[in-house]
Amino acid sequence: MIYYQTIKDLSNALQSGSLMPSGLMAAFIKRTKETEPALHSFICYDEADAMKQAEAADLRWKSGKNLSPYDGIPIGIKDIISVRNQPMTCGSRMLENYISPYDATVITKLRAAGMVIWGRLNMDEFAMGSSTETSAFGTTQNPWNLEYVPGGSSGGSAAAVAAGQACVALGTDTGGSIRQPAAFCGIVGLKPTYGRVSRYGVTAFASSLDQVGPIGRSVEDVAAVLSIIGGRDSHDSTSVDVPVEDYVHASTREKPWRVGILSEFMEGDGLDGDVSAAIQRVVQFYESQGCPIQPVSLPKVNAGLAAYYIIATAEAFSNLARFDGIRYGHRSKAATDVASVYAKSRAEGFGEEVKRRIILGAFVLSGGFHDAYYTRAQKVRSLIRSEYMRALDDVDIILSPATPTAAFHETEKCEDPLSMYLSDVYTVTVNMAGLPAISIPCGFDRNHMPIGAQLIGRPFGEGDLLAAAQFYEKYHDFHRQHPPL
Ligand code: GLN
Repeated sequence: MIYYQTIKDLSNALQSGSLMPSGLMAAFIKRTKETEPALHSFICYDEADAMKQAEAADLRWKSGKNLSPYDGIPIGIKDIISVRNQPMTCGSRMLENYISPYDATVITKLRAAGMVIWGRLNMDEFAMGSSTETSAFGTTQNPWNLEYVPGGSSGGSAAAVAAGQACVALGTDTGGSIRQPAAFCGIVGLKPTYGRVSRYGVTAFASSLDQVGPIGRSVEDVAAVLSIIGGRDSHDSTSVDVPVEDYVHASTREKPWRVGILSEFMEGDGLDGDVSAAIQRVVQFYESQGCPIQPVSLPKVNAGLAAYYIIATAEAFSNLARFDGIRYGHRSKAATDVASVYAKSRAEGFGEEVKRRIILGAFVLSGGFHDAYYTRAQKVRSLIRSEYMRALDDVDIILSPATPTAAFHETEKCEDPLSMYLSDVYTVTVNMAGLPAISIPCGFDRNHMPIGAQLIGRPFGEGDLLAAAQFYEKYHDFHRQHPPL
């Protein structure tokens, strides 16, 4: 099936002339139309615009002026990333009628490589959630079993890639939103180092944690996209001027990776037995290949989730202040004066989870509580980072499960925010430390739902991280299995 081919296969076919971008785009549109009623991965898509981009790529290939080996390959975009003249809702009623006036830097870079910008993928409202159920525009189903959630907040991106509606997609990850849905949908998701990818044109959730990254069906595919989108951008002062490697090439490096097993995440109440067993098999694989394995203990990660929900809500409280019915967003028709424009517009525009975060953020920053919560959480954050950095002196890669369980049933955790938050317990500390991490498919649980392994690397060590992941992938075929859809 053409829609399940990797970027590399598609690129080879484009180069040989056996495939044209418009034919490829037509195949993805057809696949999307067939599967979208069951999945609802997209908030919307503009078929004509995608075909127009693909036809322009046809002409470039025909004249031998392709912009890159990936010219004409479609990439799905999470609905939090600005694409000029397209709607951007961030999964919220607040932005229901918003049209982006400019391209995010990542979009500019993808266009420069000729990639076709394809659709607006569903997500939890303002990226707050772990199941895509907080989207104001309906839930997305997991392609492996429609009764299960695809994860979140980049659930639409993960479901679309897993189901062959797009070759690759962009997501964002503040506490796990690329890795957790990739794990739940049986595909690969990479959260780059904080500062590796520009966030200009990406709606901010928690600015000290947010990062854009690729979701794909193979390690090589996410490597290819990272090479395109990475790099310093003068529009985003948090992006860092570290050279962007050719990550596709880097991912073929082989060496006896020293692998640390993150002890705190290999035990404990919440960890499902099938997930634990699958990760043990990943450990055995690296060991059997001659990789030195050692346990690493990072005791402070146990305080990570609590600290994350203080820092992330504090930053969200501040970032979301701009959605007030005046500067941005929905304006209430019932408002009668300035104060009621703010109050009513925000009451009507935001969903329940977003309101919960705003209230929590206001609380942890308020006079008298600031030191007790916010300042302490920042201290925990720097301890966590130090622990990771010390561990990464002795090992090249730290391994853990990506999530404590495989995908859960829809509505199962909707009434219980804490249990929803716990599904990111293994991913959030990586954002707090600013490190790169990848989730790769490594098995299935008793319900035949996919399981993900998380590999964590050194700052700007994406090359080694991808290589260690690709080394595993080369000897396994989980990434070649597709949902029965
Ligand atoms: N699920 C986590 C949260 O709700 C992480 C979200 C994210 O990474 N955007 O905050």
